Amino acid sequence: MSLRSFEIYEKASKIIPKAAQTGLRAETHYPHPFVPERAFGCKIVDVDGRVYTDYHLAFGPILLGHNHPEVNEAVKEQIEEGVLFGAGVCELEVEVAEKLVELIPSAEMVTFVNSGTEATYHAIRLSRAYTEREKIIKFEGCYHGWHDYVAFNVNPPKEKMGRIYPQSRGILKAAYETTTVLPFNDKEAFEEYMAEHGEEVAGVILEPIPHSVGAIIPKRDFLKSLRKETKSYGSVLIFDEIITAFRHNIHGVQEEFGVIPDLTTIGKSMGNGYPVAAIVGKEEIMSLVHNGVLVSGTYSGHPASLAAVKKTIEVLEREKVVEYISKLGEEYRKAIKDVIEDTETKARVVGYKSIFAIQFAEGEVVDYSSVVDVDREKFKAFAAEMRKRGIFFTPNPLKRCHLSAKHSEKELEEFVSSAFEVLRRIDA
Ligand code: PMP
Repeated sequence: MSLRSFEIYEKASKIIPKAAQTGLRAETHYPHPFVPERAFGCKIVDVDGRVYTDYHLAFGPILLGHNHPEVNEAVKEQIEEGVLFGAGVCELEVEVAEKLVELIPSAEMVTFVNSGTEATYHAIRLSRAYTEREKIIKFEGCYHGWHDYVAFNVNPPKEKMGRIYPQSRGILKAAYETTTVLPFNDKEAFEEYMAEHGEEVAGVILEPIPHSVGAIIPKRDFLKSLRKETKSYGSVLIFDEIITAFRHNIHGVQEEFGVIPDLTTIGKSMGNGYPVAAIVGKEEIMSLVHNGVLVSGTYSGHPASLAAVKKTIEVLEREKVVEYISKLGEEYRKAIKDVIEDTETKARVVGYKSIFAIQFAEGEVVDYSSVVDVDREKFKAFAAEMRKRGIFFTPNPLKRCHLSAKHSEKELEEFVSSAFEVLRRIDA
């Protein structure tokens, strides 16, 4: 094989662990090395000239489509003025922060960081400083980045569910002892825990829709109970809206669910691919930043990224992108459901608005235990066959597909007819 993808992959394997910058990216080398070279709209092209419709969208941030000309232009204009100042505060930081305060219901103050991981790390540190307590509650199936405070029970094997399961070796033992993992959507389990330990709980962090395992729709009374209990025990409620804010709702899903947390972490879609995230929240808590609570970063509030955020939000508001992709997502789910039925496949399609996931399992999804048994091998085979037909998404069976403003009915038809062909054979 003299394909360039294979050659580059071979070289990479010698000097870059698993030939990828993240473990999840490494999985996209299945069924063959994936070496992207460029991307535009809803397409991604590899070094061998193969063009794919992209449902991966870099794990979600590419909301307006790849290589968006207006966002590119805004970034170019900014970098011509200077790439990084690292001093004082730029007017652009103020403008974007003001916009976030206007948009996100829980936002009274804003601080920028570079990644979702940094955002959740600092949000948790803030909750500990504010309450002068240590315990953190997270929920099984939720991902909040790779740091020691939260790298537990994102996708534990079935036999490890329900007790603390570190997602990595090398995690500090003290972090196990201060983290409690509870089942998502289980109001009773949460209330029981709070009744016993509420006064020790610094923060409760969750993805309001756990998309790190496809999509689990929160029960309203569960979210309401989180709000009520944290308020009564003086704990900080943290919504991790790194995926959901902007993609599902320009105000965050906190707006449509009617539950306003104390702190919110946002990132991904707001920069359409540029590295940026933020912690937003109540002034009472946020004003501790640089005032006893260390939040730092050479690149935080990077002008290029903030120029991208400003333009992305402008386009989102002007073009009603969220409405468009949400409706398209509904059409995808409906069409995929029909294909699953027509091909008599033992599978389901789950999702919310512009996110969908096909899972080789049946039954309703209410928490992590509903997804732990998905047929992983079958999904990998499905992803590999779809890839042969020019449709790209990660072969990880618990991840999800995303839509951008550049996907359309045309891509929907291609997806559905390919899925029909593949599923007819796969489940035979
Ligand atoms: N929170 C959530 C909900 C996420 O999905 C992610 C990334 N997938 C993170 C936090 C971490 O963000 P980052 O990869 O930017 O560090």
